[in-house]
Amino acid sequence: MRAQLRAIIVGFSSLLTGLRITLGQVFKPTVTVQYPHQSLQMAPRFRGHIELVRDEETGKPLCMVCKACQKACPSDCISVDGIKPEGEKRKFPTEFMLDFTKCSLCAACVEACKTEAIRFSREYNKVGATAKDFHLDLLKRLEEQAQ
Ligand code: SF4
Ligand code: SF4
Repeated sequence: MRAQLRAIIVGFSSLLTGLRITLGQVFKPTVTVQYPHQSLQMAPRFRGHIELVRDEETGKPLCMVCKACQKACPSDCISVDGIKPEGEKRKFPTEFMLDFTKCSLCAACVEACKTEAIRFSREYNKVGATAKDFHLDLLKRLEEQAQ
């Protein structure tokens, strides 16, 4: 009889402890989001793949096709090409490809760019089925962002 009574008391005490913990969590602020319908703001120092930066005044890429980023990349991820249109004082990119499968997010390219024409994006949920899905056309991406 005594053993049964002890078991009831222990069980009831355990139940109260569980309820106390659950209620404690109910009143704490929510730290999760309903992904993929909602997503978290990435920290300012977060490094997604690199992206091209647009000149706010002209709407054109800031990149002048100096290829310093391409030369600085230790993993040979970047391929840049461009032309100097008639009447323009500088070159504009016609191709800016990134092989993100090889990128270590080291920042050598971003640091090498004197015109701040590339930066790390906030892209954190890039997915793909093949390596080709991570061969990124950054110029096309910039144009799509403008639409
Ligand atoms: S992104 Fe910067 S470093 Fe790279 S080619 Fe363009 S201007 Fe040069
Ligand atoms: S972050 Fe580093 S590895 Fe990635 S593209 Fe730039 S230089 Fe290359």
